[in-house]
Amino acid sequence: MKNVFNQFYQQIAGNRLAHWLTHLPAQLENWQKNELHGEFKQWQKTLDVLPQTEPSSIDISNGVTIGSADDIPAGQQKRIEALLKNFKPWRKGPYHVHGVHIDTEWRSDFKWDRLEPHISDLKDRYILDIGCGSGYHLWRMRGAGAKFVVGVDPTQLFMMQFLSMQHFIKDPAVNLLPLGVEHLPELKAFDTVFAMGVLYHRKSPIDFLQQLKAQLVKGGELVLETLVIEGDKNTVLVPGDRYAKMRNVWFIPSAEALVFWMERLGFKNVRVVNTDQTAFEEQRKTDWMDTESLQDFLDPNDPKKTIEGYPAPLRAIIVANT
Ligand code: SAH
Repeated sequence: MKNVFNQFYQQIAGNRLAHWLTHLPAQLENWQKNELHGEFKQWQKTLDVLPQTEPSSIDISNGVTIGSADDIPAGQQKRIEALLKNFKPWRKGPYHVHGVHIDTEWRSDFKWDRLEPHISDLKDRYILDIGCGSGYHLWRMRGAGAKFVVGVDPTQLFMMQFLSMQHFIKDPAVNLLPLGVEHLPELKAFDTVFAMGVLYHRKSPIDFLQQLKAQLVKGGELVLETLVIEGDKNTVLVPGDRYAKMRNVWFIPSAEALVFWMERLGFKNVRVVNTDQTAFEEQRKTDWMDTESLQDFLDPNDPKKTIEGYPAPLRAIIVANT
């Protein structure tokens, strides 16, 4: 564990993130001492016994595909599959590892395809992905030419999933840190910041947007993706106990309201580039996430509504500059 971060520190000591070293090592040391998940040691053991392989090819441009079944001895594929299944539930993906298809709950590639035509070229850029989950999009960002990619996500199981892919890919320019957005100092150092699927989990969405802005260089780009509802710039839904069975949903504004908030915070050129009703093909139960999924979150008699009677999940992608 320690080694993983040491390599990260060494890298940023020599790049434009060097000023992060005033906060980060102490923060992560504290995390390691006080916040490790009860199953962390078990997960670490799984990581340690993943076979060392030599993938014949790695494609992170069209998806995330690591080698093929022919690269490894017979029998090893089953072992890789069984070990990776220790990291269930796999929510974000999909991944292909030596012929093992990690068929995740979400087709995160669909989201990538929706946003990719609307964002600045990632070539040579420093990228931050806040709430990156297992890191699926981190790989796609690097595949699109990014120079240095950092993801942050406080869910430790997702970090293990990321590390299991990094075990095979071995790309030091792609990193994931076990932090929440609230742990980031004002870095003002990234060319593009992504924050997808996180805003509605925050109790204070305007502070959240401000925190995103503080990570960007002047002239940088924010790519925000979140749940929205239909309505004008004064429309926002604060659901009760649950929304689509999720407990931690606080604010679901209209896309217009979001644009308005972002403009008030000083973002420029704020535009809604896509809105999309989540379909069952994008979020569903699989062998790698076999509990409830979208089908169970919607009203069986009216798929336009959640089981609680709210509008069914509609998502918007908003791009803006600093
Ligand atoms: N960005 C990915 C994953 C979205 S799921 C995508 O769009 O597909 C939301 C993620 O936010 C989860 O992985 C969750 O662990 C993470 N998250 C929860 N609280 C967070 C916080 N305070 N800061 C950053 N990420 C957080």
